[in-house]
Amino acid sequence: MSEITYSYIVEYIRALHTPPASDVLLEIEQKIANETEHWPIIKPEVADFMKVILSLIKPSNILEIGTAVGYSSLLMSEFLNENGHITTIERFPYMLNIAKTNIKKANRENTITVLEGDASDILPSLNSNTYDLIFMDCAKGQYIHFLPECIRLLKPNGLLITDNVLHKGTVARSRYLIDRRQRTTHSRLREFLWTITHSSELNSSVLPIGDGVALSFKIGGNNNE
Ligand code: SAH
Ligand code: MG
Repeated sequence: MSEITYSYIVEYIRALHTPPASDVLLEIEQKIANETEHWPIIKPEVADFMKVILSLIKPSNILEIGTAVGYSSLLMSEFLNENGHITTIERFPYMLNIAKTNIKKANRENTITVLEGDASDILPSLNSNTYDLIFMDCAKGQYIHFLPECIRLLKPNGLLITDNVLHKGTVARSRYLIDRRQRTTHSRLREFLWTITHSSELNSSVLPIGDGVALSFKIGGNNNE
């Protein structure tokens, strides 16, 4: 099983996706659609969902964990407030090279800062209460470890969006049906989803779009802020 909902529904919703106006984004989407590249970017329906959320938030400061080729960073950069900024973390040199080329091609070098290295080393060096939005899209087994850092880094009333939380639907299956090699990821993702939905610091919702997307709102801000 590789879809988390019915294939015909996914295909139908994907057919409604409007190609992006940006040449760089369009080129990445086309390479993936033609299967000339297999970069692990957000699914078209998740891209459309992100556009709506970003239009609502109009963030000034975004943190992304997992840049890959820069697709989601470039997409989010179109919805920033004036003088807004994105910090994105990537550890894999192959991806870093492509991301930097894409960011340069799109003229977003001043808007998007790519931090090179492992998020477990970089996150502790970032300032608390800084980001309106955090997009966590890295190794799924690490989400539970990065969660306390994400909560610390988010501003009150900030939003954490986490991708691939249903892991092709496997998360909803009994662990005994899961391949042994996948069992650690399975239990860590379950622990992550249980924690965000039961935390007194967050209001969370798990959506079956793409590979599963979780939204977590950081409670505690004064509405007048
Ligand atoms: N957000 C991107 C896709 C990211 S794919 C998009 O939708 O366009 C996940 C990326 O996270 C991979 O490139 C992988 O190398 C990176 N990654 C995984 N774990 C990481 C970690 N601990 N620190 C930094 N990067 C990580
Ligand atoms: Mg993803």
